[in-house]
Amino acid sequence: MDILLDIRELSEWGIPYSGIFVISGPCSAESRKQLIETASAIAKYPISALRAGIWKPRTRPGSFEGVGAEGLAWLKEAGDRVGLPVMVEVAKPAHVEKCLGQGIDMLWIGARTTTNPFAVQEIADALRGVDIPVLVKNPISPDLSLWIGAIERVNRAGITRIAAIHRGFCSFNEKVYRNKPEWWIPIELRRKIPNLPMICDPSHICGKVELLSGIIRKAMDLLFDGLMIECHINPPAALSDAEQQVTPDQLGALLNHLIVKKISSDDPHYVLGITHLRSTIDELDEQILQLLMQRMMISTEIGRLKKRSNISILQPERWQKMLRERLKSAKGKGLDERFVLRLYQYIHEESIRRQELADLNE
Ligand code: PEP
Ligand code: MN
Repeated sequence: MDILLDIRELSEWGIPYSGIFVISGPCSAESRKQLIETASAIAKYPISALRAGIWKPRTRPGSFEGVGAEGLAWLKEAGDRVGLPVMVEVAKPAHVEKCLGQGIDMLWIGARTTTNPFAVQEIADALRGVDIPVLVKNPISPDLSLWIGAIERVNRAGITRIAAIHRGFCSFNEKVYRNKPEWWIPIELRRKIPNLPMICDPSHICGKVELLSGIIRKAMDLLFDGLMIECHINPPAALSDAEQQVTPDQLGALLNHLIVKKISSDDPHYVLGITHLRSTIDELDEQILQLLMQRMMISTEIGRLKKRSNISILQPERWQKMLRERLKSAKGKGLDERFVLRLYQYIHEESIRRQELADLNE
């Protein structure tokens, strides 16, 4: 069921944007000069807000931890010079207080903070009675409830200009991205809270510049409302996240190639084509469900047979052989192996459950 939250649409935030809400700026504020130069270099592009980290939550001690409160005035000055609202990450109530004192226009809660409900609640309490946009990054672990919980805490404090930022998830087995996108999580978030604006942060997903355009394209296809892209005036010299920050020129090129997708069209060619294809999909899905039902009934039969003869439900060799054969067959049909593997893991798990439930008396 939908989660009902009192959230204002992006178009009612009082911050201009052209179709897509773009936030850009360096990972970290490093100096007044850096911020002023970055702001003036990127203000010519259609961006809605200038970002910079002031307090950096670093995983390990010893890396650059941000310039601290001193940077707030630099950021505000840089934004004012080019007429852009400015945005900072807050991780505790003291940060909120300092940002509000310096006239920072928007706040975001970082991935490491979203992970901790106590910290989020303290920030939410500090925001009570304040009308400022707050963007909530996903927690570092792929836990949708934790993300939703943080959004609810901030919303219950009275913040209605609220959005989610998808920045990917920590994963041991991920080789390509810095943080695994796990797209089904933001898709599910949109299904649960349909009126929540969603921003994609391709920089922290990718960890390197070459991968950005692919993730941005995907975000547009998944109907994200905006993007947060890290941009540095001289990326190799950046004090944090050097490999993933683009130059202002690269930012311009990425935005230039942006193709914003619409949710539907009245074009008769499209309407006819999609209606036909969708009805075919509906029929095929019905057949898939019928087949799954039959397959599970057989699992129950097998369960009974094994129970009678005192045979274990798990048959490692059979499972191994079956999976090998299915993957081979799937490959021959041009199906993605990882997809079929996941599918069969689910089917096998359900089959085991059905066998456990099998009743000898039926
Ligand atoms: C950042 O935006 O620079 C940052 C620290 O992000 P995250 O919380 O997603 O790691
Ligand atoms: Mn960063």
